[in-house]
Amino acid sequence: MNTEQFYPLFLKSDKVTIDSRKVGKNDIFFAFSGDNFNAATFAEKAADEGALAVIVEQREFENKDKNIFYVSSTLEFLQELAIHHRNQLKIPVIGLTGSNGKTTTKELIHAVLSEKFNVQYTYGNLNNHIGVPLTILSITPEHEMAVIEMGANHQKEIELLCHISQPDFGYITNFGKAHLEGFGGFEGVIKGKSELYDYLKNHHHTIIVNENDPVQTEKTENYTPKITFGKEGSDYQFGLLSEDHFVGLEFQGLKTVSKLTGEYNFTNLCAAATFGLYFGIGPDKIKHAIENYTPTNMRSQVVKKEGRTLVLDTYNANPSSMTASLSNFVAFEGSKTIIIGDMLELGVESEKEHQSILKLAQELGFDQIITVGNYFKSVNPSALSFDNTVELIEYLQQNKIHSENILLKGSRGIALEKSIEFI
Ligand code: ATP
Ligand code: MG
Repeated sequence: MNTEQFYPLFLKSDKVTIDSRKVGKNDIFFAFSGDNFNAATFAEKAADEGALAVIVEQREFENKDKNIFYVSSTLEFLQELAIHHRNQLKIPVIGLTGSNGKTTTKELIHAVLSEKFNVQYTYGNLNNHIGVPLTILSITPEHEMAVIEMGANHQKEIELLCHISQPDFGYITNFGKAHLEGFGGFEGVIKGKSELYDYLKNHHHTIIVNENDPVQTEKTENYTPKITFGKEGSDYQFGLLSEDHFVGLEFQGLKTVSKLTGEYNFTNLCAAATFGLYFGIGPDKIKHAIENYTPTNMRSQVVKKEGRTLVLDTYNANPSSMTASLSNFVAFEGSKTIIIGDMLELGVESEKEHQSILKLAQELGFDQIITVGNYFKSVNPSALSFDNTVELIEYLQQNKIHSENILLKGSRGIALEKSIEFI
């Protein structure tokens, strides 16, 4: 079976899913197989319960009478189906990548553009070789635009994701020290993320450029079409506002304060406002969208607990976002404790990067520094250095943190958020 034959059935479906627990009536279920599971064993059950079609990659599960179809690779078929669907779509697609801030920027752009358009966007963080095609396949005729987050930790991944999503507009949030291991150092990061630029340039599509970022500026020099922001002479300019640790924008005579903390979010806000202005959304509507956007996902979230201010940034961490977070937090008024977790996926740079973050933290002069994870432990001989979050929790059960401000930041794998209720 090829994608063209299958496409009419897809158009009749409600949604596409790879999760056997989420298959509803009239859905298409892609049964992926992995080392520890074989979703195809659910194929028959899904079909009997009303799935419109099931795609399997083991021939023995095929049953055409029940619309269970065999393909040689479910992943490739999913990607090809997404490409076929994308080719039929006549709406602008915005592609985002970068080392940090993709999800935040995506949500902000979605919030702003939704003031005027029906916008489909990547749910959560479904930004990889499976998530991107699923997002593309979730675009229906009612949608007028789409914002697609593309993540990568190796070369050529963004190239593939561009091939699938075919962005008309593209923005790279930043080039930072994330996934150094897979990319082969910082130069590798620049090269890998720039695959978005390569795609856009090859198709003469529009690049959005933060002209405060020297790498972005250099990579897009003399290129058109592009939309620029950030500097005098850029297409759009924004002033930085900061109110009670929340970041905001001043533009076109309006003051807009978001519910995000961290000065690094200024760029994310600028990008969202730039897309809004470019697509003809009034400044007052942009202000409304930004002021109403509430982060709920442990990204730059500020919460109050027993009179103390907790900054929760436990969603991920790498040297650039850690540095940004610490520099932001040091400006908080009053006593400060930081709880920082290991930054994973740094490969041979790990020890050096943990060492320099620890040094930075010591220089910034926080009242208390707590570290969690083996990388920090190897460079931090202090008693407040824990192997993992479980040990941290044991400590917190015996010891209350009295600081007026507490920052939690670490990689996903460290799961610092589990300690919040014990703080
Ligand atoms: P992932 O690779 O996990 O998808 P992401 O790129 O989607 O991450 P977000 O989830 O939006 O990034 O943000 C993760 C963290 O990165 C934030 O909590 C914040 O600490 C930091 N961050 C966000 N925006 C920026 C930025 N523009 N520059 C530097 N750091 C940032
Ligand atoms: Mg993300």
